[in-house]
Amino acid sequence: MEIIDTHAHYDDSRFDDNRDEVIADVLNIGYIRNIINAGCSIEGSKAGQALSRKYPQFYFTAGIHPHDSVEIKDRDRTLFELEGLLRDPKCVALGEIGLDYYYDYDRDVQKNWLEWQMQMAQRMGKPVAIHDREAHGDCMDMVRKYPDVIGEFHSFSGSAEMAKELVKRGWYISFSGVITFKNASKILEAVKAVPLDRIMIETDAPYLAPVPMRGKTNVSSYMKYTAEAAANVLGISTEEFCAATTENAKRLFGIK
Ligand SMILES: [Zn+2]
Repeated sequence: MEIIDTHAHYDDSRFDDNRDEVIADVLNIGYIRNIINAGCSIEGSKAGQALSRKYPQFYFTAGIHPHDSVEIKDRDRTLFELEGLLRDPKCVALGEIGLDYYYDYDRDVQKNWLEWQMQMAQRMGKPVAIHDREAHGDCMDMVRKYPDVIGEFHSFSGSAEMAKELVKRGWYISFSGVITFKNASKILEAVKAVPLDRIMIETDAPYLAPVPMRGKTNVSSYMKYTAEAAANVLGISTEEFCAATTENAKRLFGIK
């Protein structure tokens, strides 16, 4: 069995004390084929780039997260640095970018940054990794506005209908440990709505650890619980499910 973690944050400060040990443990498990470290800022994206240079299994994405977008002072400099990071052969997507209406970050600033980065993805032919928290309508408007851009919706939290529209538009849907939570019935409907050639899984480590590890610092090896939960609701084996998600991640992100 092989699993690709399509979205993790091993640059997070929660791993500062023991990052190398945690990564060594995860990779020693044997079934974690690759990890894509998601960037949220220029600094974080550079940290992901450093991990991709240290560990052959690691790839990274570079982008400005909606939470980080409101802090940026020099727009042109930031976009210039981002473009440089995207040229790294181990940079597999522009992300994570998106909209977060759960917290009180300025929505106009978030929308501007999402749009500038969608334009860059289009120009550079890169897939994107979308963060969508309680902003489904505006995220879908942006997807419809840039039909040439595809990518993954990370830790998907939308409806089955939304998942179906994304799939029709060429997008991939990535599910996190949230699908193992008690109140996951709506999200499991979305899992069932995504065809097997468009579904992916992720940790969002250190966040969103699946049951029975819920509340702990999440790591990629816990994805077996997420994979089991998805395979279970789809009525297929965990091996079959993981084979599909691995192929999908390789295809979207151009991983060999
Ligand atoms: Zn994330």
